[in-house]
Amino acid sequence: MTQIILDRKFFIDVIKDMADLVEKERDYLTKLDSDIGDGDHGVNLSIGFREVIDQLDTINGQAKDINSLLKKVGMILLGKVGGSSGPLYGSFFMKAGQHIAGKDEITFDELVGMINNGVESIVQRGKAQVGDKTMVDAFVPGLKVLNERTNLEPVERFKAFIEAMKEGAESTIPLVAKKGRAMRLGERAIGHKDPGAESAWMLMNVILNNLLKIASPS
Ligand code: ADP
Ligand code: MG
Repeated sequence: MTQIILDRKFFIDVIKDMADLVEKERDYLTKLDSDIGDGDHGVNLSIGFREVIDQLDTINGQAKDINSLLKKVGMILLGKVGGSSGPLYGSFFMKAGQHIAGKDEITFDELVGMINNGVESIVQRGKAQVGDKTMVDAFVPGLKVLNERTNLEPVERFKAFIEAMKEGAESTIPLVAKKGRAMRLGERAIGHKDPGAESAWMLMNVILNNLLKIASPS
């Protein structure tokens, strides 16, 4: 297996690219949310990530390791983003690095552990199950693939994770929502993709793009 070492710069690049993605997809995500929610998902994420970018140099200077950097990112998202997605994504970042305290370089397996921690905290906080038409429908089946495909090279394994998350997001289309605002729509939510499931795979895909850059630097 190829060994991948991820340093603090990797995570800074990921955060910046996530913020760029959110700006690019803001209107699309908001459109998805206007179909079944209150039409603010893209705007919510944009408010949060803009604040993260404004504070990034400062929090990076203060952070003693990758874990404390991500914790601070999570706290900003939690504090700044209205709606349900802010606390959920906030808790993802706050909990992701809890097992790598003190480290400024981590392995691919430790990255997998981070995603496990992050998803676990989203499930704990939101209490949604697969099939409830939320971001959990993308995260949980994705994570299963990420955890099981240990025979694949790291980048291929991460690609399989993203593919499974994308499929999970697609799988929300025929569902009635059992959590979040879309719940109120009942059967009228059928035929629409869940905005949080869509943003979830898109945000994780940013990590894949950065892994690809490391694996084959241009
Ligand atoms: P709000 O619904 O408060 O307006 P957003 O529009 O930013 O917040 O985010 C909506 C997304 O949040 C939904 O598409 C769904 O994926 C996700 N979500 C809502 N409630 C939950 C929950 N309890 N658990 C997991 N995800 C949730
Ligand atoms: Mg909304």
